[in-house]
Amino acid sequence: MSTNALPAQSGDFPAWYGEVVRRAGLAENSAVRGAMVIKPYGYAIWETIQRELDDRIKATGHENVYFPLLVPASVLAREGELVEGFAPELAVVTEAGGKQLEEPLAVRPTSEALIWSTYARWVQSYRDLPLLYNQWANCVRWELRPRLFLRTSEFLWQEGHTAHETEAEAVAEALTILHDVYADTIESVLAIPVLRGRKSESERFPGAVETYTLEALMRDGKALQTATSHYLGQGFARAFDVRFTGRDGNEQHPYATSWGATTRLVGGVVMAHGDDRGLRLPPRLAPQQVVIVPIAREDERADVLPAAGAVADELREAGIRVRVDDRPELRPGFKFNEWELKGVPVRVELGARDLAAAAATVARRDGGQKEQLPLAGLAAAICDLLDDVQAALFASAREERERRTLQDPQSYDELIEYLGEASGFAVAPWCGDADCEARVKADSSATIRCLPLDEQAAEAGACVCCGRPAVTSAVWAQAY
Ligand SMILES: [Zn+2]
Repeated sequence: MSTNALPAQSGDFPAWYGEVVRRAGLAENSAVRGAMVIKPYGYAIWETIQRELDDRIKATGHENVYFPLLVPASVLAREGELVEGFAPELAVVTEAGGKQLEEPLAVRPTSEALIWSTYARWVQSYRDLPLLYNQWANCVRWELRPRLFLRTSEFLWQEGHTAHETEAEAVAEALTILHDVYADTIESVLAIPVLRGRKSESERFPGAVETYTLEALMRDGKALQTATSHYLGQGFARAFDVRFTGRDGNEQHPYATSWGATTRLVGGVVMAHGDDRGLRLPPRLAPQQVVIVPIAREDERADVLPAAGAVADELREAGIRVRVDDRPELRPGFKFNEWELKGVPVRVELGARDLAAAAATVARRDGGQKEQLPLAGLAAAICDLLDDVQAALFASAREERERRTLQDPQSYDELIEYLGEASGFAVAPWCGDADCEARVKADSSATIRCLPLDEQAAEAGACVCCGRPAVTSAVWAQAY
């Protein structure tokens, strides 16, 4: 590990991000441009995200399935908007087993086509509905400007695909996933506050009637779309000829949803919480919540190391993920830097002087405060401290978002100036016209991130772009 300082976050955010991802051991580039190797520490973070999402997906009544990686081109072609939307990013296999294939096979960019062509066999009657399925998989969407975790040509994700008897049921499903699965995981585990909203038509998923989204603000003032949930209407059912006999005896098409969250969430955690010293991981996400660093001269090791082991056992019994860093060849200062870079929420230093006082020195990663705590009752105190760090990271990200949110700019120029400098979110009334949306994008490179779900249309006022009556308020930002 390099001992050079990281690039300053405020000076060169992209360089800072790249160095944190590399030096903290999260991921690295591979021989294929845009495809990343996820290293053990990065994968451990992903596994926690996966487990937390999966628990909630199952708690809301879904089951996991697995569909193949390869999709016949003719199947993908059946839904026009989907194939058009993904054409520029599609990877296609034309040769296998040493022969040209009769039909090219697309590497899935998403699985609606394959899954709905299968649902045609699974759905006959209203009694077969709803289908509430999810799969954990990888996807390929060819990236021209890849960035580790944020935009990679191959990524890991879950994709849910459900089929319902009624529109109301399908819309409710898309919103349940948005709130109870995604927002709950991202806010309570990843400690990232999110705006809940709908996408404007131009930002919708290809083939979706409505795309719901969760938008988070990163520490450089850019937005990150953290997860999306789509209400797909009956388009996919029609394209793949999925029909069922309804309660009234008539044949009809079911209503669809799909929803996904990807490994980009790992990048979101880096950018929402990290600082000049590296990562800051929320305790509920951290592979190691506590690291114990014994501080001992050669002649003190026989006392200090067993004491460190005993503290570790006590913390483990209290359900804390803990590691003792007893590598003898490294100085404590080096270890402190390394664990700070890796974002471990709490560090316990244990030296002969601490032991003589029946205490340990405890440092928190988020704010850097350090205090001596008695060894008696240490596990309970550290459990409280971890809760506190979790809450503090969320609160600090929310304050940062509020500080960086411009409410109701007085003029179009003020909006463009704010957005052009990637200062954060700007919230302003919008008439709903795609021309106004396109004008803001051309003038500032910012897009409408979402139309907030809690917005009252009556409050909207006049469109910030054209002055005509607004139909909604919109949240703009530059985005990853
Ligand atoms: Zn307008």
